[in-house]
Order: sequence, then structure tokens, then C-alpha cells
Amino acid sequence: MGLIRVLPPEVVSQIAAGEVVERPASVIKELIENSLDAGARNISVRLEEAGKKMIQVCDDGCGMDPDDAVACFQRHATSKIRTPDDLIRIRTLGFRGEALPSIAAVSRMELLTRAHGKDEGVKVIVEGGAVRDVQPAGCPVGTTVTVRNLFFNTPARLKFLRSTGSEMNQILATLIRIPLAFPSVSLVAFQGDRELFRHSATDDLKSVLIPALGRDIAAQMLWVDYYSQPYRVRGFLSPLSVTRPTRSHQWFFVNNRYVRSKALSTALSHAYDGLIREDRHPLAIVYLDLPCDLVDVNVHPAKLEVRFSREQEVQSVLVEAIRSVLVSALTPVASPLQVVTPEPTPSPSRELAQFRALLRARFGRGSEQTSQEAVPPPPRRLATPKPARLTAIAQWSASYILAEGAGGELFIVSQHRAHEKYLYDLMVRKMQDKEVPRQELIVPLHLELGQLQSHFVRCHLSTLKRAGFVLDPFGGSSFLVRSIPTILARLDYEKLVTDLIDEISFGGTATAEDLFGEILATVACRAAIRAGEPLSRAEMQRLLDDLLTVDNPSLCPHGQPVMIAITREELDRRFER
Ligand code: ADP
Ligand code: MG
Repeated sequence: MGLIRVLPPEVVSQIAAGEVVERPASVIKELIENSLDAGARNISVRLEEAGKKMIQVCDDGCGMDPDDAVACFQRHATSKIRTPDDLIRIRTLGFRGEALPSIAAVSRMELLTRAHGKDEGVKVIVEGGAVRDVQPAGCPVGTTVTVRNLFFNTPARLKFLRSTGSEMNQILATLIRIPLAFPSVSLVAFQGDRELFRHSATDDLKSVLIPALGRDIAAQMLWVDYYSQPYRVRGFLSPLSVTRPTRSHQWFFVNNRYVRSKALSTALSHAYDGLIREDRHPLAIVYLDLPCDLVDVNVHPAKLEVRFSREQEVQSVLVEAIRSVLVSALTPVASPLQVVTPEPTPSPSRELAQFRALLRARFGRGSEQTSQEAVPPPPRRLATPKPARLTAIAQWSASYILAEGAGGELFIVSQHRAHEKYLYDLMVRKMQDKEVPRQELIVPLHLELGQLQSHFVRCHLSTLKRAGFVLDPFGGSSFLVRSIPTILARLDYEKLVTDLIDEISFGGTATAEDLFGEILATVACRAAIRAGEPLSRAEMQRLLDDLLTVDNPSLCPHGQPVMIAITREELDRRFER
């Protein structure tokens, strides 16, 4: 008797569901995509407990007749493709016929739908994938899908769901993307009575940027519209003065489908190479249109990834397109506030040559700096117990302090990490009633955030306050920053606060305590002296003295080494003495 058995259908469908339905946000994504494919003009979403308890998506699309309303729960049942050839000319968001059966397999689902031209609708109840009841029902034309108790029959999955706040972050990130691709469809979302998100149909592409980027940044984005047979690149790009510490503000749409694409994000980075700091990222919304046979959308169960048949060509078109706009933005006449629309048929090579010349003229020294960063491999690291004393000898490469220890060892101390560690420790030591000392701003700082960030801030106001940031909601997604941690007071804190919120809101930190630690670490990192800043001997000594007041000076708040020590013996050995 062999050991291999064909799995029973329930197991098969739960395995398959695992690929499509990861969390409430993925259910919402699939249901909204179905509504869009059904030609809906209005879509509304209702949630309870960030979708963990209930998700309802209601649309005014074409609806389904009673047969289809039952058939749609079968695996690989779809109205969108029929033959293998159809797979290479997919114009709809869905085509795999997997979403509804997958969601139904791991929840209690109700489908209420009425087809266009029919007098009556139908209600279908499905539990754990099995159709329990089908009844005629009165309802408007369109479809309402209600998903309750997601993962009720898959406890392992249920355990993986994060806190309500964190699931909500993912949901908002999903909602924000929809109007970027479908501006003419209205989309609203509520949690209980509270409105989470609202987009009213518009044909003004620029206004759809506001939920994603906030009003201020949206107004500064540059428009690109570039055509290079058979590709078309359109979108919005941040001017060089606006960057982010993460790639969280980059959205790519291929033939109007949101995708995560390494190929495209690499090309985007390339286009900004040398123009912005290496550790920063541009903001971008990029729409790439190309013939369907040059892109395979059937490579990922949730259809979030695509494969280009001529990937390098796509990348170079994207780089050209973006550079053409950056070139115009670099020229003195164009202020970053201006929308720059290049001619539809620019000559890429001339454009590129012009761009390189501009780069050289403007950033001649910048490129040298980057090559300097190729630091020689570090000497072998030894365990570094806290030294009793450190005497500054010299600064090396404007980034490291060379110092002598009490026992004559040579210490190499990263000036940035040393300062970072000291500031972190200082904030913790000076805490009063578990709160970091803060300084009130004489003029509160007005912050206009994207929806996702503003949701995050609203959820974590008390943790932010403990860390020194007092923010007051100021209507919509605006906030007034009333105070900041004292150690930031002398810095350019406006940029710092937006960066910080950006970094932490995409970190997905689980507990308030973790988040608190992360905020302190980020603040310390931002406030600390950077690598590349020249220091006087006195400044170096001061920094070393400060560093030795902390408990564990050899590791920075992120757990990386602050200093390394080389003993006399080690050096002698290397000189073969
Ligand atoms: P796919 O979208 O890949 O076809 P789904 O499982 O998501 O697979 O949906 C199965 C079918 O159910 C769709 O092809 C469509 O015919 C129908 N359907 C699903 N949702 C809706 C809706 N909101 N309005 C109209 N028809 C729908
Ligand atoms: Mg679908």
C-alpha cells in the first residue's frame, strides 16, 4: 500500500485559500477588484474590528444572475477568460476564478446580488466553502458580499492576524491604491460609524494623490507623460527636494494594475541616482502601459507581481521617462511647484546627454563623495568591554574617532553611533513619569499627512506623547505638532517629524512598548552627528566622555557596534614583530 493520497477537497481549498487570502486587507482587495471588473461606479466598504469580525463590500456593478451567484463559488470559475489565448490579453483585474472560493473556504460568507435587467436578486449563504442556502431576495442592482469570522476554521491563520491597528494600516494601504488607478469610481469605507476613507469620483488625476501623499506634497509632484513605442509612461514624481527614508511612497501600475515590481523600483532609483542622497527615496506614482503580450500577469496568486518579457527595455524606458522630467525640473526656470509636461516624443539620447551634463555641472563633487565610501575592510573585531577612559587622538575620514584606551589599545569609534547611543541613553535616563523630556514649540508645526500616516498617528498619540511628540488632530489628516523631544529642538525638526512618522508607520511594530523603543531609536539616530562631519579635538573628547557615561557603550540602539578595539599585541602580530 502506497503512502500517497489525494487530499480531500476541504484541505485542497484551504491550501489554495492560503495563497490568496492572507489577511483582511487581501479580502478587501479581491472584493473591490471584482466590483471594479463588474463596472461599478460606487463601491462602499464596511468593516468591524479591522475586518477580523466583518468585511462588507457593496457595489452598483452588473450583478450576477442566480446561476452565476452559485457558480462563482466553484474553484476556477470565472466569467473573465475562456481560452488559453485569453490569458495573454487580460484586461480585467481578475481572471483566475479563485478569490470567491478562497475567501468562502475560510469564512462565513453571504452574497446578495441582482443582475442588471432582473426584477429580483438572490442571496447565497456559504460557510467554510459549502453552499448552505440559496434564496430569492429583494435588493438593488449590484452585488454585496459580506465576509464574517475570517479564518474561523483555520486557527493557525487566525493566530497570524495582527492587532486591529496594524491590520487597519494594511487595509488603508490597500484602499489608497484604488483611486490612483480608478479615479472615476467613488470609494468609501467605514468602520462602524466612523468614516475611514472617502474618494469621490473625479477626472482630476492630481487630486487623487492627496490621500496617498497629503496635500502639500501632492501639490509639488511633477507630471511625466512619455511615449516610446510600444511603451507609455505616465505618472507623478517628487522633485529632488522631497524624498523619504523608505520606499513606502512608490506605487507602480502596469496596464492599470497595481503591482510590486523590483524591476520598476530599481529603474526609479536609477533615474534619481546622484541627484538625491543614497539613503533617501523618491516618491512616485508610475503608470506603465504596454501591449498585453509583453507582460505576464499570471505569475502570482494575488496578481501582485508581473513578469516583463523585455525587462531591460522596460527599465531603460522608465529611466529615460523620469530623467526627461528631472532634467526640466533642474533647469533654473522651472520651480518645483510647476507641473512639467515634456513633449510626447522626446529624443532619448539627446535628452540623456543633456541630463548627464547637468548632473556633472551640478553634482560634480557628489559623485566623488560616493566613491569615497568604499571603506577598506575593517580590522578584526574584538570583544569590547566598556573602556575606563578614552582619549581622542584624531578624526579619520570625517567619520571615525581614533582614540586611546586606558590600557593603551587603539579604539576606532563611529562618531554617529557614539552620539546616537548617548542621545538614546540620555532620553531614557531623563524620563519623568515614563515620558521623554519635551519642549513646547512656540509656533506649533502644521503637518499634513497621507491617510495611512494620519491613521497611524491617531492610533498612537499616547505613545508618541511619551516619546516627546505631542500632536493634536487638526481636522482631516492634519495635525498640529505642539511639542517635540528636547534633544531635537535645535535641529530642522519639521523634516525630521515627517520622516519619523513615515519610517515608523511602515515598520508594522506590534506593541506600544516596541513602538516607543523604535521612536526613541529613530529620534536618536536623526539627532546624532552624522558621518562626514568634521569635529575638533575638543568635540571628539566631549563625545567620548559622554559615551562613557552610558551603560553599554559598545552597541548602538539598533544593536550594531559603536566601537572596535585593537590591542598592541594584535598590531604587533600584524606587523609580524
Ligand atoms: P475572478 O475575478 O478571477 O473571475 P472571482 O472568484 O473573484 O474570480 O469571481 C468569480 C466570478 O464571480 C467573476 O468572474 C464574476 O463573474 C463574478 N463576480 C464576482 N464578484 C462580482 C461582483 N462584485 N459583481 C459581479 N460579478 C461578480
Ligand atoms: Mg476576482
